[in-house]
Amino acid sequence: MSAGNNWYTVRWENKTACVVKFDQFLFVEEVYYIYLLRGRGRNKRVCTCPAGNKPTGCRHKDMWDMATSQHQVNLGWFYNYDTEEWQVPFDNERAG
Ligand SMILES: [Zn+2]
Repeated sequence: MSAGNNWYTVRWENKTACVVKFDQFLFVEEVYYIYLLRGRGRNKRVCTCPAGNKPTGCRHKDMWDMATSQHQVNLGWFYNYDTEEWQVPFDNERAG
């Protein structure tokens, strides 16, 4: 896997939308949850990251929408935020 510091996976954890951030060694760095806050009249989507409740939003909510539209949720693929590319995890079965 190439260098870079912005690897993510996008998946469901139980019934909660979840974006996991990895460091450059692919150790889990942070786990962010995206959920609906039910309000009177309208629901609001929030993320558990520090910017998750700001009106400007955060990259995780965008990432979730992008992954959903590209059918990448729960595939286990890694998303490189810098290059905007999905990468298949290293496959030990096929490695010579
Ligand atoms: Zn967030």
